[in-house]
Amino acid sequence: MEVTLLEATENPERLICQAARNDYMEEFVGSTPFEDVMDDVEGDSLEDRQETLIHHLLEHGHFGPFEHPHATFAVKGISRSCMAQITRHRHVSFDIQSMRYVSFDDVDPADVRDGEMVVIPPSVSDPDWVGRNQDTGAVDAETAARREELFRETIEGAFESYQELLELGLPPEDARYVLPIGTEVNMVMSMNARMLMHVADMRAAADAQWEIRTMTEDVLDLAAEWCPITFEYYNSEMKNRKNRLAP
Ligand SMILES: Cc1cc2nc3c(=O)[nH]c(=O)nc-3n(C[C@H](O)[C@H](O)[C@H](O)COP(=O)(O)OP(=O)(O)OC[C@H]3O[C@@H](n4cnc5c(N)ncnc54)[C@H](O)[C@@H]3O)c2cc1C
Repeated sequence: MEVTLLEATENPERLICQAARNDYMEEFVGSTPFEDVMDDVEGDSLEDRQETLIHHLLEHGHFGPFEHPHATFAVKGISRSCMAQITRHRHVSFDIQSMRYVSFDDVDPADVRDGEMVVIPPSVSDPDWVGRNQDTGAVDAETAARREELFRETIEGAFESYQELLELGLPPEDARYVLPIGTEVNMVMSMNARMLMHVADMRAAADAQWEIRTMTEDVLDLAAEWCPITFEYYNSEMKNRKNRLAP
């Protein structure tokens, strides 16, 4: 998996502060210099004042101003299963690589067995990995080897069948029905900073699946570079909160 920041609002924290201060200012924020907008906020420098205000907003649950800055991420090589989970979030916009217009006819099924084009969960090769809702705990070496062989054989076979169906003239949009849910997909997703915190509340949590957690942690790392005061505070004070209140 690879996650990159494609595009994002410039000066996101200045925008958050302008939006928030608008609510309590007599003057018009649209024609007031930013230094004056922040004049009443505690702090020695403009940066300190932004920090004071943003921490105050997050502490008090005043989340509206965080809806103004947006970020767009490009995500490469997540499973269709992970994609189904993240696309449940209704305030995120998505573009998903099509399996109707992109056909995987040049992938060697032998490479699929080794991890190309299908995400192979860590539990497949780690006998000690214990996931949620698993009937057994760690397994013996023979069982682990059989599980791994069965998994790899199945995904290889699925790609062989898919390519044969294409050769027999089936359209990619119908041949794809035989592909595994672990098949990789690329997507672009956009969301505002408030939604990013909400997604992280749900998907960076311990009960979320390892793949979407990994993706969310990557998104959070990029968010901390893009919007540092907000997401450093989120990471240290809000992440893994007991109560998941939509921010
Ligand atoms: C560990 C885990 C397991 C899950 N298992 C399942 C499962 O088995 N089956 C399944 O179907 N889903 C499952 N989900 C998905 C989950 O139920 C949500 O659909 C998904 O996480 C989207 O989050 P959200 O409900 O907060 O909505 P979002 O779309 O992210 O919306 C953000 C917030 O906006 C508000 N909102 C949005 N739309 C509405 C609306 N129509 N009415 C009222 N308020 C709204 C809510 O406050 C909501 O929290 C699981 C999620 C997790 C994290």
